[in-house]
Amino acid sequence: MNYRDTLVTCESCGKKFVFTVEAQRRLAERGAEVVIPDRCDACTQRVEYGGRLHGRIKWFSLEKGYGFLVQDDGSEIFCHRSGISLTPEGELPPIEEGQEVLYEISDSPKGPQAVGVEPYTG
Ligand SMILES: [Zn+2]
Repeated sequence: MNYRDTLVTCESCGKKFVFTVEAQRRLAERGAEVVIPDRCDACTQRVEYGGRLHGRIKWFSLEKGYGFLVQDDGSEIFCHRSGISLTPEGELPPIEEGQEVLYEISDSPKGPQAVGVEPYTG
């Protein structure tokens, strides 16, 4: 099979992305069928994590009441304290630098921010 970079429009978010020769080879090497994906990586990932996004805490300050997450695509997103899901005991979960988290994105008047943030332990 001849591989070549293919421009695809994501079925979920409508974003255009390139299904690269490299990605096609990776599939082939894993013995998977090389088919053009319907969704971009971010949307595929969303399905993998039960409709949520996956990232890491960049830093979070309890005193300031906010911090930032690093998303899997490398971009950063604001996270207010109110966006962190409390434990069943009603407490803030441990939020440490580098902690893996699942979250959703909500558009606020100040821009997008992470909400429903929960530690992710795999
Ligand atoms: Zn998408």
